[in-house]
Amino acid sequence: MVSAVLLAAGKGKRTGVRKQFVRIGSRYLFEFGLKVLQRAGIEDIVLVLPPGDTLNVPGVRTVEGGAERMDSVYNGVEAAKGEFVLVHDSARANLSLDLVKRILETPGDVVVPAIRPPDSVLYDGEYVNRDDVLLVQTPQKVRRSLYLEAYRKAKASGKLYTDEGSLILGEMGIKPVIVEGERWNFKVTYPEDLEVFRRLKLERRVLFGYDVHRLAPGRPLYVGGVKVSEDFGAVGHSDGDAVLHAVVDALLSYMGYGDIGTVFPDSDDRWKGARSEVFALETMRRAREKGISVSRLDITVVLERPRLGGFRNEIVANLSRLFSVPEGNVSLKAKSGNGLYPDRVEVFAVVEIIL
Ligand code: MG
Repeated sequence: MVSAVLLAAGKGKRTGVRKQFVRIGSRYLFEFGLKVLQRAGIEDIVLVLPPGDTLNVPGVRTVEGGAERMDSVYNGVEAAKGEFVLVHDSARANLSLDLVKRILETPGDVVVPAIRPPDSVLYDGEYVNRDDVLLVQTPQKVRRSLYLEAYRKAKASGKLYTDEGSLILGEMGIKPVIVEGERWNFKVTYPEDLEVFRRLKLERRVLFGYDVHRLAPGRPLYVGGVKVSEDFGAVGHSDGDAVLHAVVDALLSYMGYGDIGTVFPDSDDRWKGARSEVFALETMRRAREKGISVSRLDITVVLERPRLGGFRNEIVANLSRLFSVPEGNVSLKAKSGNGLYPDRVEVFAVVEIIL
């Protein structure tokens, strides 16, 4: 049997951020590697957390890390049940199932993935032949009993090692079996690595929303939460803000809540005369719960009067606030309808979201 130890005990010394707990969409960074280990069929997984941290992760045992990386690995390997253990850095969050399988299938007491450096390498002022250089990655497969013995020897002699392969080589003289690593199995170390990973992983969806309301005298008109007229406004159960309704409708329906009429029915007196901002904020609360954020809004409003030009900046700023999307990512087009829309407001909304 093979166990896995997933290291998430880093203190963020180099970046000041405990990156294993940074959220990418709906997941913590460490969960990406975890999912791959689980998909590989590894049932005994030990997650090593920073000392003092607790976290309830279904199907996973947790242990506390130690002072150095190798101490954290030891705590995990010690707790693992398998004859072999795959030790993986959670910061290598772009782990592939292929790589895990390749390592699992390769025989040996110590199996280590590595890649050749793409760049020339200078060492101590001299160029070295880069064919002689390998960059070592994780996961590394070790025979559990061998690792424990090597670790105890290293502790006795006070030596520090940065990975399992070097520890076993240094203390036991056993060379690792090298398998081809993967260039995209990079370690999220610096803030720009996190940005690269984010761009790789974030999934986008494009949603569409629509709404139309009749206009009548004697009531205010709200467009995107901004009052644009005092005396010629939308007829509706709520304030009839067709821009907010179109965006909210797109989001609610994508999230599986039916549509705006299901969540805020006009049979419910709570919503009678309600400002539609309430709908927007409640919808965004539900979106956040699902790890969904809005990345772009592209809205077309067809309305004869009043002309929206003078309100554009205010409407954009308000949409930006309500849907937590940068102002630069909100576009608003106002069409007059060329005489066809004397008594209505019609809205088309394209909503881009990040999962
Ligand atoms: Mg409506």
